[in-house]
Amino acid sequence: MSYEYEQVELPDEGEKVTYDEDADELVVPDNPIVPIIYGDGIGKDVAPVAQQVLDAAAEATGRDINWMRVYAGESGREKYDENLPEDTLNAIEEHRVAIKGPLTTPVGAGFRSLNVALRKHFDLYANVRPTYYLDGVPSPVSEPEEMDMVNFRENTEDVYAGIEWEAGTEEVEQVREFVEDEMGFDSTIHDGPVGIGVKPITEYGTKRLVRQAIEYAIENDRDSVTLVHKGNIMKFTEGAFRDWGYELAEEEFPEETIDEDTLWEEYDGEAPEDKVVIKDRIADNMLQQLLTRTTNYDVLAMPNLNGDYLSDAAGAQIGGLGIAPGANLGDGRVLAEPVHGSAPKHAGKDKANPTAMILSGKILLEQLGWEDAAELVHDAVEQQISEHRVTYDLERQVEGGVKLAASEYGEEIVERIEDLA
Ligand code: NAP
Repeated sequence: MSYEYEQVELPDEGEKVTYDEDADELVVPDNPIVPIIYGDGIGKDVAPVAQQVLDAAAEATGRDINWMRVYAGESGREKYDENLPEDTLNAIEEHRVAIKGPLTTPVGAGFRSLNVALRKHFDLYANVRPTYYLDGVPSPVSEPEEMDMVNFRENTEDVYAGIEWEAGTEEVEQVREFVEDEMGFDSTIHDGPVGIGVKPITEYGTKRLVRQAIEYAIENDRDSVTLVHKGNIMKFTEGAFRDWGYELAEEEFPEETIDEDTLWEEYDGEAPEDKVVIKDRIADNMLQQLLTRTTNYDVLAMPNLNGDYLSDAAGAQIGGLGIAPGANLGDGRVLAEPVHGSAPKHAGKDKANPTAMILSGKILLEQLGWEDAAELVHDAVEQQISEHRVTYDLERQVEGGVKLAASEYGEEIVERIEDLA
């Protein structure tokens, strides 16, 4: 597959990342071409910094990233008069792995979220958010270092499917009639205006998400995968998520996994070293367990809305938005992106914290199989923060902090990578 690009400059060198479908593996050259969307607002401040840091880590480990700048959001409108130009979609399609900064979504009128559009277009069904503590980051909890979780949030169904009807429309009245008259819920919905949404959770969507979470746990020597659901109330959607999750583990990973009941019945609660424990928790309970029994949890697999709430709550425990990285994964596809948005009031001031974007790049390096480069990025960022040489958001929270511009922060991290290598 090779596209003609209208307004994108192809890098002079570099090879494509490809996908071996049978092995379900990316095939990665040492000089991959990687598309990057800087994004809106502070994206233009943090993305170039992340690029420099990732370049340094690649170079220090004998590789070379060939960036291909592509456009979306404001830059898409400027260059192409479009929010999500064909060139951008083609570049990501052709090169399989990409990284993006935040894109603004206007509230109410305007266009639909470009982030959602990208996830849908490439069927990036798992939103992955590693949540771990970096020494020196100010945190609202007393033992933030206990947090080391990876959250897998389903990206394509549940309330994200967007199947809903507005109060007062003909459609919503049709749905109400169907629910009341044909499905027998005749005195469940109050009279008067109503908005109605549909919450689909499929076996297919659940199993492919849980499969990714279990594979991740096995490959990374994690102890457990917890299915987080509200199956006590929503039995046929969230409850089905739990049941299909256990079923998948039993069908596809019978040797590598063990469920929590068996763990207690046969092993007195002590898991054999080579087994990943599959357990489940109800979402509201899980929110408090995050705080009270942090070390009992490892990898979490969740339907969309639970994943939304839980990953932000977990993120807050280890220092919040400027730090939290993420990635959207599909089969043989990676789109890394920080959790934070475009923070328009800080845009263009070279002050926003680039850590979340840098650490999203670290996930990209891991997905390329460059663990050594990823580790260098982690260690250099941690060293930098532990010396309290940080951007404004962290400086205001730590004692004796030195406030750096985003670009200065990045330059110091690059130097550390060179020293650590
Ligand atoms: P936001 O952009 O994440 O910013 C909210 C606040 O969080 C900022 O004002 C700032 O707080 C802090 N913050 C976020 N990122 C930071 C960073 N890198 N460094 C330092 N502080 C940071 O959330 P929002 O204002 O709700 O959303 C703005 C736009 O972004 C919206 O259009 C939204 O739809 C979009 N968005 C996009 C994505 C995405 O592209 N994936 C994700 C979320 C939101 P202080 O001002 O207190 O310092």
